[in-house]
Parts: sequence; C-alpha cells; structure tokens
Amino acid sequence: MLKKFLYILFSITAALLFFYGFTHAGLDAFVEGIENKTFDLRQSVTAKYRKPCPKIVLITIDDASYEYALDNIGEWPLPRGLYADVVNFVEKQNPRIIAFDMLFVKSAKNNAAEDKKLAAVFKKYNNVITSMNFDYQPEDLRKAQDLPEKLAISIKNNSLDPHFEGNTFTNYRPIVEEIIQNTSNVGSVNIARSNDGILRKAPVLVKYHDKFYPQMAFLAAYSAIEKNPARELKIDERSNLHFADKHIPLDEDGNTILNWYGPQGSYQEVPLYKIIKKMKGEPVELNADFNDKIVFVGMTANSLFDLKTTPTDKLFPGVEVLATYVNNVLDNNFISKTGTLCTILLSVLISLIIGFITLKFVSVSAMVFLTFLTYMGYTIFTFQMMKHFNLWVELVSPLLFATIVFIAMLIVKYLIKSKDFEQQYKLATTDGLTGLYNHRYFQEQMTSALEHAKRYQTEFSLIIIDIDYFKKFNDNFGHQCGDRVLRAVAQTLKKNVRATDIVCRYGGEEMSIILPNIGHEDAVFTAQKLCKMVSEQEVRTNSDKTTNVTISLGVATFPQDAETVQDMIKSADERLYHAKENGRNQVG
Ligand code: GH3
Ligand code: MG
Ligand code: MG
Repeated sequence: MLKKFLYILFSITAALLFFYGFTHAGLDAFVEGIENKTFDLRQSVTAKYRKPCPKIVLITIDDASYEYALDNIGEWPLPRGLYADVVNFVEKQNPRIIAFDMLFVKSAKNNAAEDKKLAAVFKKYNNVITSMNFDYQPEDLRKAQDLPEKLAISIKNNSLDPHFEGNTFTNYRPIVEEIIQNTSNVGSVNIARSNDGILRKAPVLVKYHDKFYPQMAFLAAYSAIEKNPARELKIDERSNLHFADKHIPLDEDGNTILNWYGPQGSYQEVPLYKIIKKMKGEPVELNADFNDKIVFVGMTANSLFDLKTTPTDKLFPGVEVLATYVNNVLDNNFISKTGTLCTILLSVLISLIIGFITLKFVSVSAMVFLTFLTYMGYTIFTFQMMKHFNLWVELVSPLLFATIVFIAMLIVKYLIKSKDFEQQYKLATTDGLTGLYNHRYFQEQMTSALEHAKRYQTEFSLIIIDIDYFKKFNDNFGHQCGDRVLRAVAQTLKKNVRATDIVCRYGGEEMSIILPNIGHEDAVFTAQKLCKMVSEQEVRTNSDKTTNVTISLGVATFPQDAETVQDMIKSADERLYHAKENGRNQVG
C-alpha cells in the first residue's frame, strides 16, 4: 500500500517538475490559449440555458436603418439633433435608462446647433448615459487633460488583487463639452480582449490620472438598479465589487468575465428607422414598448464595423456586448474563475484517480478506457460548474497534469514489472545457496548446447564435479560450514572459467560446467586447472582454523563420447567414478 502511494507521489512530483519547466519555457501561454477555447465551448453550450433579460431593449442602427439614413436624411453620421428627438420620443414611455453606445466626439465637422440640441436632453433627463473612450494617444496629438471630478468613482479597495495595470490609460478622446457640462452619466466603452482577439472580459472601472471611471454598461446597470448611485464603491477582500445585492468579480486589471446569452440577436431590437418613421407619423409597427426598460442605442449594421468576436459568435455587435454586460449585473452571474490553489488541488485529485486506475488495472486498454472516462467526467464537471454556478474551473492544465502523471505511472509500472520479471527469472533459474544455475537450467542448456553443436558441427564439453568425502566434512565441521564450502567451491569454479561457460549446481555437492565449442583436450585441461585451484583453496572451519577440500571431476565431449544429453551425463559420470576410484582429487 505504502509502495503504491509512493509510486503515485513520485509520478505527481514528476508532473510538478514537468509543469515547472513548462511554465518557465513560456509554454503556459499556449495552455492558456487552449483553456480559453474550452471556455468558449462551455459558453456556447451553456448560453442556451440563460434567458436574456426582457428589460433590455436595443435601438439598433442596423443595415436597414443605415440605408434609410442615407436615402432619407442624406447624412452620415446622423445629425445629433436626431438622437435628441429619439430620446424625447422614448422618454415619453418612461424608460429606466437610455444609453448611447456612441461617441459624440468633438470634430471640425460639428454642427454647434445640433450639439446643443443633443446636450440639452442630458440636462433634461438624468437617465441618459453616453460614452467616451480612453486610449494611449501621444501628447503631441492631443493634450491629456483632467476630467471633471463628477465623472469619477472612488473605490475602497480591500483586496490586493486588482491593481488596474491593464486598464490604466494615458489619454482620452474628448466628447462634446456641453454634454459633459450637463451630465455626469458618461461611461467608458473600453473593452478587454484576450491574446487571440476574442472578447471575453470587460473592464468595470478604468484608471486615468489616478482616478477611476466606470465602464458604460456598468454605469447603465448601476444607475438602473440604484436610484441614487453613490460615486463610491467597495471592493472586498476577494476582489468582488459590491453594490445593492450585486457582486462583480474582478481580475487584477479590474476586468470581469462576461457570461454570454447566446449568439447575436438575443435581445429585443427596434431598428432606428422605425422610430424615425414613427416620429414622422408614418405607419409602422414598433413591436416594443420602452416603459421601465434599459434602452441601448448602438450600431449593429455589418457595414458600420462595430463588431466584436465573442465566445459564442464571430460577429457580435458592440451594443449587444454592453447589453450582455448589463444582463450579467442584473442576473448577478458574472463568471468567476477558480484560483491557482483550486486548480492544483483538482489536478492532484484527478492524478490520484488516474494513479489508482493505473495501479489497479493490468490491461492497458482498461487503463486507457478508465482514464478516458475520468477525463470525460471531469470535462462534464467543468461544464456543469459553468452552467449552474457560473464558475470557470480550469480544464486544460489539470488534464495535462493528469496525463503526465498517467505516463509517469505507466513508466514506473513498466520498470517495476520488468524488474519483477528479472527477479522471477533469476529465482527460477538459479540455486539459492551457491548462486549457480540450477538443475533445470542445466538440462535446458545441455539440450540447446547439443542442438547448437549438432547444427554447426562443432564440439562441446561437459565437466561433472563432486566434492570428495563431503559427508565426512559435514560430520566433522557441521552443515553450516559445509554450506560455506559449497559456496566457496562454486565461486572458484565460476571465476576460473570463461564467461560463455555455464556453471550449474547439479544437485547436493555435485556441480557441472557446460563448455560450448570446447574440445576434449581443452576441457580436460580446464578440469585439471579447477581441481588444482580447489585443492589449494583454504576454507575456514568454525573454530577459525583453515582446512582444504578436494574435488573429483569427469569430462565428456560431444560428439566423440556421446551424442545425446543423457549419454553425455552418463559418460562424464563414469569418468567421475573413475576419478573417485583412483583416489579422488583428480580428473577421471
Ligand atoms: P565421495 O563423494 O568422496 O564419495 O564422498 P561423499 O561423502 O562426498 O559422498 P556422498 O554422496 O555419500 O555424500 C554427499 C554428502 O553431501 C551428503 C550430504 O551430507 C552432503 N550434502 C549434500 N548437499 C548438501 C548441502 O547443500 N549442504 C551441505 N552442508 N551438505 C550437503
Ligand atoms: Mg556425491
Ligand atoms: Mg562427494
């Protein structure tokens, strides 16, 4: 059990080291890229279960409205007074908010009278919101001026996390001065794109000249929910921004991750041209009322290029991004991404499961199948977490981590198996006392030596050895001492033959040596050498004295003495018997 635990621990450590190297090689950006794609997939699947808020209505400058404007008004951009008319028209139905996803910038083409007319509606209604955009333009293009205090929001930041680095701007595009004079309802329309250009996050606040300014959609939602939105907000220790019963999780740049409601066209839309027609008294069906609604005015026309790529859609109008943002505030369902610690814990958990599977199952296909099931299970888990808890649980790194553990475990298992096999093989072929090959192995090798010699028409020899008066030795010095002698003789034999010769324990105090490719003369010479070496070898008795043992040997050679294994053994045995008869300590 402990050993198995150690295998898993080893594999997890290997995976950790791998990951450490991986991150240091800068490959984590690659993982992040894939992780983002899995987020998009999760969003595409779970968006179906989110219902867009019916309180949001878009007045869209769609392709039809653009065409209508060119044909009937003959001017693009549209005269700003027209937007003032639209505001006056919609305000009759008491909307909660009217927000313009448009920049009413200062320009040499500006018509002062039209600007004045538009600015007037900002004074008249305190629920009209407009946009501005922060950027990094150089000072020689335009001087970066301070913005009026009333546009800023002060924050009580109780968290270390958001430092707004990615959302700190050095300049901004000025909008019509009179609008600024008349309202504090101006929000930034800056967005945040991931490295792959896809819009997954949006700022809640951006930083400029050490002050914070609200994102326009956030300001719209905040103003729609709070009657008197305070210009001070709190960020708690866990980086959530709070107001009313809402919380918005922020990342280190002050961005929040949007939770999408499906591809473009999910929100109720009224094309601008219909409103213009209605205002003119022409017959037209509006299909929408604006009472208590959060109304966004913005461009959706393909020809006007205010299109973004989002997780659920390649071409998604900017104004719908803002609508989605507001919808997230209303539904309190921004995406929270789990932290590093959670990812590590999940990685270790899956690794333990994978490790267990790898240890428990012998069949590789069973292992792969169960591992695959585990991956599937985890993937479904991450989808469910997004669907039910708006949680972005990391998918790629835990699975990558588990895969490395899986591979490490397989390697460890394979190594252990091959070592086990080696041990088993050794146990099956050797003799425990002397370390020589055992009788069974001897028989096998005799057969193959014979076959080999027959096939290649060469010779091979067999020496059989028997220790002289060993019974007496045992009686005199004890069996333990006898065992020691057996080991000593075995070592002497082994050390003094060629590496290709096979030394075996034939049984009891009898040993044998197979000498491939050796003729009779050479074999007898070897036997005599061994006989002399053993007799000269001193063996220690129990009483710390030394003594000697001698051996008798018999040699047989193929093909001259015998042509079968049995006859070879018989022939060698006979010669051994002769040696014994002739007084022992000799080759027969
Ligand atoms: P010789 O071969 O010279 O005729 O006499 P011997 O005494 O060696 O002959 P025998 O075959 O009668 O006796 C063999 C003895 O070897 C019997 C047994 O006590 C001893 N023997 C066999 N295997 C082992 C062993 O593994 N360890 C020890 N200590 N003794 C063993
Ligand atoms: Mg014997
Ligand atoms: Mg003997």
